[in-house]
Amino acid sequence: MSSKPRKAATASKKVTVRVAPGTYSTGEEKKKVSDKSASEGSTNGKVVAVCGAGGFIGGHLVRKLIADGHTVRAIDKKPQNLWYQRHSAAENKTLDLESLDNCKEAINGVDWIYNLAADMGGMGFIELNKGLCMLSVLINTHLLMAARTCGAQRFFYASSACVYAGFKQRTTDNPGLKEEDAYPADPEDGYGWEKLFSERMCRHFREDFGIETRVARYHNVYGPNGTYDGGREKAPAAICRKVLAAKMSGNKNIEIWGDGQQTRSFMYIDDCIYGTESIMASDILEPINLGSAEMVSINQLVDMVEGIAGIKLKRKYNLSAPKGVRGRSSDNTMIRAKMNWEPSIALQKGLEKTYAWIFDELKSGRSEKSVVNAA
Ligand code: NAD
Repeated sequence: MSSKPRKAATASKKVTVRVAPGTYSTGEEKKKVSDKSASEGSTNGKVVAVCGAGGFIGGHLVRKLIADGHTVRAIDKKPQNLWYQRHSAAENKTLDLESLDNCKEAINGVDWIYNLAADMGGMGFIELNKGLCMLSVLINTHLLMAARTCGAQRFFYASSACVYAGFKQRTTDNPGLKEEDAYPADPEDGYGWEKLFSERMCRHFREDFGIETRVARYHNVYGPNGTYDGGREKAPAAICRKVLAAKMSGNKNIEIWGDGQQTRSFMYIDDCIYGTESIMASDILEPINLGSAEMVSINQLVDMVEGIAGIKLKRKYNLSAPKGVRGRSSDNTMIRAKMNWEPSIALQKGLEKTYAWIFDELKSGRSEKSVVNAA
C-alpha cells in the first residue's frame, strides 16, 4: 500500500463533521439527530445504567450522560479505586454482571441500559484468552433476561469489528467492511464469536420479547483514560507507551508485532461516545458500524507517534506475536445514510491527545493499577 495514510471517506455535503468535542460544523445537522431522538421519546432526563463503567469507554460515556442531564447508575466488577473514571454524580456500584441476580440489582428501575461490560483487550489478550472472552456471553445474556423483568425500555450492546468474517480481511488493502460482511459467519475465534452470538441474542430478545435493542460494531477505539499497559492495551496506546519508554530511557528500539504492514482504522473516543449516544437514540435496529474509515498500516501508526514524540526508532519486527487479521477498516455507507454523520476526528489529532495523556501518566509514576480520575 502507499506510504500515505488513506483519508477518511468523505460523505455528502450534508454530513455533520465534529470539529471539536461537543461542537459540530453544522448546527442544523446536529439538530437532526436530536429531533429524531425527541420524536422517539426524549433522550433527556432518563435513568440510565452503564455496565462496564469502570472501563475505558464506559468511563467516558458516564461523564457524557451526566453532562447531558441523565441520572446515571455506573456498574463494574472492578473495585472502584481501579476505575479509569469514577464520577461522583453517578450512583457507582461494584457488581459482577455474570450473575443474573446482580444484573437484576444493577438495572432495577432504569429506563435505558448500555452494556459495555466484557472481558476484553487488544489482540494479545483476545488470542490467548478465548474462553474468558466467551464467558462475557453470560453478562449480555443475563442483562437481557433482567431487562425483560425490570421494565427497561432500551438496551445498547457494544459489539465489535471482530464479528466480521476472517476471509474478508486477508489483504492489507481492505476496502472497508460493510455490515453484511459478518455473514457467512467466520468471526475472530473466541471474542468475535461471543460478540456475534450476543448481537443475535439482542435481535431475538427484541423480536420475541419487545426489548428495544441497539447494536454498534466498534472499530478500535482509542484515547485518554484507557488501557495502555498490562497486556490488554490496543495498538495506539501500546505504541504511544513504547515510543515514550524509548524516549525516556534512551533505548531507541521498538518492538512491532508482525511485519507492521497489517492495516487498521482507529476511532477517537469522542466520536465513539457521540456515535453511541446517537445510535441509542435512533431507530436503527440492525447492527451498525461505528468506526473510522481512515485506514493506516501499523508502520504508519508508528510513524505518526514518532512524529509527535520527535524521535526516530529502530524497529524490530516480532513475527511470532499475535497479529490478528491482515487488513480491516470500516465502511461507513450505512451510518452516513442513517445518521448524516460518521466518525471523523483525524488519527493525528487523536494520537496527539492520547500520547499527551500517557506521557502524563508515565511521568507522574501512576501505574495502570491506580488510574482513577474521580470527578
Ligand atoms: P474495558 O476493558 O476498558 O472495559 C470493560 C469493563 O467491563 C472493564 O472495566 C471490566 O472490569 C468490566 N467487566 C468485565 N467483566 C465484567 C463483569 N462480569 N461484570 C461487570 N463488569 C465487568 O473495555 P472498553 O475498551 O471500554 O470496551 C467496552 C466495550 O466495547 C466492550 O464490550 C468491548 O468488547 C467493546 N469494544 C471495544 C473496542 C475498543 O477498541 N476499545 C472495540 C470493539 C468493541
